[in-house]
Amino acid sequence: MAGGDNLDFEIRPASQPVPAVERAALMANPGFGRIFTDHMVTIRYADSKGWYDARVEPRAPIALDPAAAVLHYAQEIFEGLKAYRSADGGVTTFRADANARRFRESATRMAMPHLSDDLFLGSIRELVQVDRDWVPTDPEGSLYLRPFMFASEVFLGVRPALEYLYCLIASPVGSYFAGGVKPATMWVSTEYTRAAPGGTGAAKCGGNYAASLVAQAEAIEQGCDQVVFLDTREQKYIDELGGMNIVFVLDDGTLVTPPLTGTILPGITRDSVLTLARDEGRAVQERPVSVDEWREGARSGRIRETFACGTAAVITPVGAVKSRDYEFSIGGGEPGPVTMALRERLVNIQRGNAEDPYGWVQRII
Ligand SMILES: *Cc1c(COP(=O)(O)O)cnc(C)c1O
Repeated sequence: MAGGDNLDFEIRPASQPVPAVERAALMANPGFGRIFTDHMVTIRYADSKGWYDARVEPRAPIALDPAAAVLHYAQEIFEGLKAYRSADGGVTTFRADANARRFRESATRMAMPHLSDDLFLGSIRELVQVDRDWVPTDPEGSLYLRPFMFASEVFLGVRPALEYLYCLIASPVGSYFAGGVKPATMWVSTEYTRAAPGGTGAAKCGGNYAASLVAQAEAIEQGCDQVVFLDTREQKYIDELGGMNIVFVLDDGTLVTPPLTGTILPGITRDSVLTLARDEGRAVQERPVSVDEWREGARSGRIRETFACGTAAVITPVGAVKSRDYEFSIGGGEPGPVTMALRERLVNIQRGNAEDPYGWVQRII
């Protein structure tokens, strides 16, 4: 089948796919990122020949030389998106073209080669086609897709590698909120930051996550669900969570979210939510929000709601906030009405239960 970039995907079907009965048992309670489909996509890159050897093959461990550059200097990027089962049994994706573009932008920042949008989107079509039985039929479930690329060159010198491996794996996932949407508690980290101006905050690279783990662990220790990072310059303005963007809802219905100034990952969920809000006539402000404004606003009622957004959980209401010196709740700790209405509107478009005036949903099967 044609893959684009004049590369065809060679399909090597698994000789021992998971039997249907076992697959059904696994998919009954998939959790998040624990179970995987039978196949994966790999595409290789060498500076001398460009992208080559595009394959859909049985999912298996990847053999790496101990001197593979990624193991030493972390030249790695990834994406995350979902495929949904439609009512007629087909399969769709949501704004996959935006993930393809962001993957290129991340590659630029990390001095890596670009994978064309044709190859990126082609890899998704090919894998979902082969592993279509792994797309959950459960109306809350989806197939989480994880494209990633890393430096595979065997070389310990410090420079951009000359060889890379692109890979796509897929994992059926259930509802993020088993038993209903539950507001999360945030830990505001005053010790650790995530991204400095000029750094890699806007690139979706594994290194950002590695740097956030100790802060996330601290959040859990403090009885919170997620960490909120502040700006590195003044430790005053809110950037985002470890893997989700943050949005505030004011008492007049305005949405406020930190601007994309290079230290924040430009979330596709963030962009979708802002688009939906503007189109329903809400004011949207992309401007810095200080922790003081957040705390004061929650107390006075100026800030009525806060939510986090990202592909995995879509929209998560924030019920309470904690830091070394203070603690406060938002909207009485309950999910806010604007948060929940935006969530429902977005999920309905994603799942094909509402009209999609934006052309966000693409049918792939
Ligand atoms: C992926 C990611 C997000 C959310 O992006 P979506 O495109 O909405 O999934 C937010 N912050 C960080 C740090 C991320 O890596």
